[in-house]
Amino acid sequence: MQYEEMLSKRWDTVIVGGGPGGMGAALYTSRADLSTLIIEKQFVGGLIALTHEVENYPAVDFASGLDLTQKMEAQVKKFGTEFLYKDVLKIERDTGGSDFLVNLSDGKQIRARSIVVACGSAPRRLPAAGEEEFYGRGVSYCATCDGAFFRDKDIVVVGGGESAFQEGLFLTQFGRSVTLVHRRDNFRATELAKRRARGKENWKEMTNYTVEEIYGNGTVNGVKLRHTETGELSDMKTDGVFGFIGYEPASGFVSHLIDTDEEGYIVVDGHMRTSCPGIWAAGDIIKGSLKQMVISAGNGATAAIDIREYLSAMEEETELVGAAGD
Ligand SMILES: Cc1cc2nc3c(=O)[nH]c(=O)nc-3n(C[C@H](O)[C@H](O)[C@H](O)COP(=O)(O)OP(=O)(O)OC[C@H]3O[C@@H](n4cnc5c(N)ncnc54)[C@H](O)[C@@H]3O)c2cc1C
Repeated sequence: MQYEEMLSKRWDTVIVGGGPGGMGAALYTSRADLSTLIIEKQFVGGLIALTHEVENYPAVDFASGLDLTQKMEAQVKKFGTEFLYKDVLKIERDTGGSDFLVNLSDGKQIRARSIVVACGSAPRRLPAAGEEEFYGRGVSYCATCDGAFFRDKDIVVVGGGESAFQEGLFLTQFGRSVTLVHRRDNFRATELAKRRARGKENWKEMTNYTVEEIYGNGTVNGVKLRHTETGELSDMKTDGVFGFIGYEPASGFVSHLIDTDEEGYIVVDGHMRTSCPGIWAAGDIIKGSLKQMVISAGNGATAAIDIREYLSAMEEETELVGAAGD
C-alpha cells in the first residue's frame, strides 16, 4: 500500500512495534478482517531478531531470531497486515471522537480506532568498547534465553541490583564460574538474592570494577576491567558477558494517556487493556513482563481478541444511536 493511502485511511488497529508482541496482535486482528498497520521504527522482529539462537519457542526446535520473525512477518502479511517504517513520536486522542492520532517522525499523522503498544523495552547496553561487536556472540542481556549456551564456560555478570544477582544465580547452573562485576562495593539487591547467589560454589564477586572493554576473536575471550579507585587496568578471561544494568522502556510516546509505573512500564489488566479505553499493550513493555517471546506473542493475541470485541461493541452502539435518530 502506498504511504498516501495509509495516511488517508482510518485503521481499525495500529500497532506500535514490529516485534513478537506486535506481530502476535497483528496475526489475530488481521485474520479477523480488522485493517491492521504495524508501525516499526527500526526493523521487523524487535529484540529477538538480534539473537542468533532461539530454542524455546513452541514447535521451533532451533532457529535464528531473524528467521523466526521473518516467518511471523510473512504470516501476518498473508492476512493483510501492512507495515510502515517510521518512528512514532506521540499518540493523541482525536478531539471530539474516540479515534487516536498517531504522530510520526516526518510530521504526518495516522488515524486509528484502536492502538496496541508493543514497543518493548531495551536492556541498557554496557558502555564498554567491543560491546556492539560481540552483542549476540558472547555478550547478552538475557540469561533465560542464552544461559544454556554457556555450559561449563566462564561467565561475567555486570550489575549490582536484584536482576544481576537473580539472573547470575540462574547462570550458575550452566557456567563453570560466574563472576559478578560491580562498579561499587555495595549492592541494591536484597539480602535473599545475595545469599542465594553466594551459596553457589561457582559464584565470585569483583567489586569496584567497571568493564572497559570486551574482546575476542569472533566470540568473547575476555574483558578488560578498570578498578574504580586506583584506575588500574587488568584482564580477565571469560567466554560470556551478561549485562544487567537496567532496562529502558520505550513508552514515552504514549505515557501521557495511560498509567505506567515509575520506570515507564505499562500497567494492564488481564485483557491487556491499559487505563485508556482503546489502547492495549503487549510484550516486554508491560509491567511485570517476563520478557520472553512466547509471552509477548500471547499478550498480543489476548489484546487482539479483546480489540475485536471492543470495536464490534462500538459499531453496535453507533448503529443503535443511528436507529434512535431515524
Ligand atoms: C540477547 C537477547 C536474547 C533473547 N533470547 C530470547 C530467546 O531465546 N527466547 C525468548 O523467548 N526471548 C528471548 N529474548 C527476549 C525477547 O527478545 C523479547 O521478550 C521479545 O523480543 C519482546 O517482544 P516485544 O514485541 O514485546 O518487544 P521487542 O522485541 O523489543 O519489539 C519492540 C519493537 O518496537 C519498536 N519500537 C519501539 N518504540 C517505537 C516507536 N516509538 N515507534 C515505532 N517502533 C517502535 C522497536 O524498534 C522494536 O522493534 C531475548 C532478548 C535478548 C535481548
